[in-house]
Amino acid sequence: MSDRIAVIGAGQMGNGIAHVFAQSGFDVVMIDVAQQALDKGRDTIAKNLDRQIKKGALPESERSAILGRVSTATSTDAVRGAVLVIEAATENRDLKFRIFGDLDAKADAGAILATNTSSISITEIAARTTRPELVIGMHFMNPVPVMQLVEIIRGLATSSATTERVVGWSTAVGKTPVEVNDYPGFVANRILMPMINEAVYCVMEGVGEPTAIDTVMKLGMNHPMGPLALADLIGLDTCVAILEVLHDGLGDPKYRPCPLLRKYVAAGWLGRKSGRGFYSY
Ligand code: NAD
Repeated sequence: MSDRIAVIGAGQMGNGIAHVFAQSGFDVVMIDVAQQALDKGRDTIAKNLDRQIKKGALPESERSAILGRVSTATSTDAVRGAVLVIEAATENRDLKFRIFGDLDAKADAGAILATNTSSISITEIAARTTRPELVIGMHFMNPVPVMQLVEIIRGLATSSATTERVVGWSTAVGKTPVEVNDYPGFVANRILMPMINEAVYCVMEGVGEPTAIDTVMKLGMNHPMGPLALADLIGLDTCVAILEVLHDGLGDPKYRPCPLLRKYVAAGWLGRKSGRGFYSY
């Protein structure tokens, strides 16, 4: 029987993680508090599989078997039997602390509890459980089926055995794992978010229109997409949440979220997922 894994949160990252594990032969249960998010998550997986088939990257004959390996649930009771639980719920400390307390109580003894958090301390999340040696960061990039990297973050108590197993699973789903240690924002967002924030300051100060700023970074720095389009893809609420963690955790004013970014979030302009951010979708 294939390994069973559980994914908490069926949003843009959760359904992508479920997709790549199911495609690699794992049985996956996707768990979300919102039935609507689960339905939308399954639809997204189906659409993304269709895209892969159209591109010739996946034989059509595999589509139904992959979808058949993804089940859904609204209760975390469904984590029972999973060797690995990957949490990809909303980027909020208190929420993640609560989820990990619950997962610790319900997951099998010996199950690894991973989080896809973009910035919240793995060490602090692990301290909410009785198994900190089995807690680790498994930071996939967006969109998960396309992007190669998984940033593997070791908390203070994460064991080498846990790290090795998670590196193995990441490779098994066709990704390239890179190990880093637990400091605010890890590596990816510590470097990416100040760039996005600076691009938002450029908009706020009228240095350039969003398209001009993005074009400078695309054509001038060879970035595949500009920082503002990338912020819209990530979600502006998630960007603010990550900047706050960097600001609080490192205590350096250079990480303060740009007021314009906060204003967009307050208006409900969250980027692609809400239909409007720096661009309209
Ligand atoms: P999202 O808003 O698309 O999805 C979050 C999902 O979590 C929603 O479906 C919501 O219903 C669900 N949820 C909320 N509370 C829950 C609970 N108690 N139990 C189960 N599900 C719950 O967010 P996202 O962009 O998928 O981000 C998820 C995580 O991945 C965050 O920690 C984020 O920082 C991280 N991440 C995001 C990106 C990105 O580009 N968006 C990249 C890497 C990592």
